[in-house]
Amino acid sequence: MMQRGQLYINGEWVSPDGKGTIDVINPSTEEVIGSVPVSSRTDVDLAVAAAKAAFPTWSKSSIEERSNFLNAISAALKERGEELAQLITAEVGTPIGYSRMAMVGTPRVVSRSYAKILEEFSWEEEIRNSLVVKEPVGVCAFITPWNFPLHQIIGKVAPAIAAGCTMVLKPSKEAPLNAFILADIIDEIGLPAGVFNLVSGHGSEAGEHLSGHSDVDMVSFTGSTAAGIRVSQISAPTVKRVTLELGGKSANVILRDADIARAAKNSVGACFANSGQTCSALTRLIVPAENRDEIVEIISSRVAGYTAGDPLDEAVRCGPMASARQQTSVSEYIQSGIDEGATLIAGGIGIPEGIDKGFFVRPTAFADVTPEMRIWNEEVFGPLLVIATYETEDEALELANDSEYGLSGGVWSMDEERAMDFARQMRTGQVSINGGHFNISAPFGGYKMSGNGRELGLHGLEEFLELKAIQR
Ligand code: NAD
Repeated sequence: MMQRGQLYINGEWVSPDGKGTIDVINPSTEEVIGSVPVSSRTDVDLAVAAAKAAFPTWSKSSIEERSNFLNAISAALKERGEELAQLITAEVGTPIGYSRMAMVGTPRVVSRSYAKILEEFSWEEEIRNSLVVKEPVGVCAFITPWNFPLHQIIGKVAPAIAAGCTMVLKPSKEAPLNAFILADIIDEIGLPAGVFNLVSGHGSEAGEHLSGHSDVDMVSFTGSTAAGIRVSQISAPTVKRVTLELGGKSANVILRDADIARAAKNSVGACFANSGQTCSALTRLIVPAENRDEIVEIISSRVAGYTAGDPLDEAVRCGPMASARQQTSVSEYIQSGIDEGATLIAGGIGIPEGIDKGFFVRPTAFADVTPEMRIWNEEVFGPLLVIATYETEDEALELANDSEYGLSGGVWSMDEERAMDFARQMRTGQVSINGGHFNISAPFGGYKMSGNGRELGLHGLEEFLELKAIQR
């Protein structure tokens, strides 16, 4: 049990003003594994005041000092890597091998990458008679979700430290414990008081109060589109900067000249990583009509072999959904696919055989999915792959762009130039050609209702900077 009764404000663990606690539940066992405090508005005000007070000094800190802290965070994440991977698997249900790599390994590398970016970053530029200087935006509020909890936190905290900003973090209520470990690390490495502050609690209370706060200069939000819209509305009267990383319903297109078998096999993992609870998951597979049967056969046998079970078992590839709410929601989507007439080719309603507790669903795939179906349009956020067919490449592109979202995408072809041409026409923030790997130095973010702003790499740093032009 990890019971955390205090908040991290102004370089100290302090007892909250807020009343009550939030239980954290292990989605595999349905047992309570810890709790965190519910922050009140007063707690949020104190955290923002600490960040505001720390800003004048921290914003003038040296690049060397910031780099040292970023490297120290990275080193501590390495040292506590196994503990954090186990903790995040307990909070989210992520299979342990993937947890080690994506939940802890990636944030460790991202933190270090910002120290590297600082080595070469140019803070000033001359434009005719102007000197353009880049300055930290100020006090930042970070509101983060549960699905890649530490990765999403570090994707904001590391560039903010690099930029010279101060910050208040409010993690999700489903997976907040890893944020408390990060605060322990930040305390241990001696980041100056007030630069990083942690509050916990409900989005509708602490999250909204942070978003509307007049002393917060920027909100960086990752989560659902509905909550992102709400954050934008509440932030608007203070004209603060708002960046949003929201949902997705990304397309994976197999062109006619692709290695069809390889593309079909890869498409299952590209949709089901983190048990399908990935905003950039490639959930809509778009295939040539004449290859439908071959692809369906590969996918149905692959999904059937996608073992669901205890995420601590190294052989398990699909854990539970992160919460009972997610389990219900994903099950409803599977039912809607059946009701709307899609062809169920693997999985279905119910929980996988041999499992008697936990928020599990069956890894599922549907073929013959058409654009009016809910499973085509809506983000499911679970292990559910949908397949549609096309006759012409123009139709394939139309289907790929037929979404209110635009976060990620995939395209498969033996001809890289052709794939590149297709990728350029996709209205989405990322595209992977022939299974090209995720790159932590490339900008990550959405077109359309998947959000605005970019995270990671140099572009992620620039989100935290103001530009000042000084004429002479
Ligand atoms: P969510 O929107 O319910 O919660 C995310 C965070 O927002 C939590 O900290 C929550 O407490 C807070 N929140 C909720 N309502 C709020 C409000 N009214 N005001 C302020 N804060 C509020 O999302 P979730 O269920 O935790 O996460 C899943 C969603 O996140 C999915 O839609 C997924 O696609 C999206 N997501 C996007 C990205 C990305 O980078 N684009 C990454 C991960 C997850």
